Amino acid sequence: MTDRKYLKQLRVPTEDNPLRLLMSACLSGITCGWDGTANGSYPSALKILEYNTVKVIKFCPEEFSFGAPRAMCDIHGGTGFDVLDGKAKLLTEHGADWTEGIIIAAEKMLKIAQQEKIEIAVLMDISAACGTQVIYDGNRFSCNKTYQIGAGVAAALLIRNGFKVISQRDYASLEILYSKIDPAHRIDASRLDHHETEWYKEYFKTT
Ligand code: SF4
Repeated sequence: MTDRKYLKQLRVPTEDNPLRLLMSACLSGITCGWDGTANGSYPSALKILEYNTVKVIKFCPEEFSFGAPRAMCDIHGGTGFDVLDGKAKLLTEHGADWTEGIIIAAEKMLKIAQQEKIEIAVLMDISAACGTQVIYDGNRFSCNKTYQIGAGVAAALLIRNGFKVISQRDYASLEILYSKIDPAHRIDASRLDHHETEWYKEYFKTT
């Protein structure tokens, strides 16, 4: 769940004192995805790169520990928080245990966030590392692919340490963010965050 109250209270940044924003590297177009691509193109995130009132710090936790391209990995037995607590594992599609590596990567991402004093993170949803609202529940390649509400491992560690995170699909929250970084931006009140979409509400039976 995003924190719109926090977003509304964000300062108005300037070129001299830009907003410090941490972004999943793939959302910026860097080809760090598991298959050596950028995992698609998301205008909602790419637009942020256009503003000189934002300092974008890019990082890919999975590439940091496992390189790119690499095997596909998912969380088994819980969410990113459970991985941090030793109650769930990160396994590749072939069953290799990458739990230790993803925790090291998450700690590296947290260190960057702390050193850079980031004010907001915009992360790729669904990812076992960067997901903020939804992640896969076990192997995404299994015949009964399922999703769960929860954060990936790196996102969970950021959240646990007090950082605010949103995903590239949290369009209502991004509207508030754009209104801070662009004085000309007018908020489109019809936009929804991921947890407000029909897909989310139907899939997770939240209504
Ligand atoms: S780990 Fe995060 S930054 Fe790296 S490819 Fe996956 S979603 Fe993108």
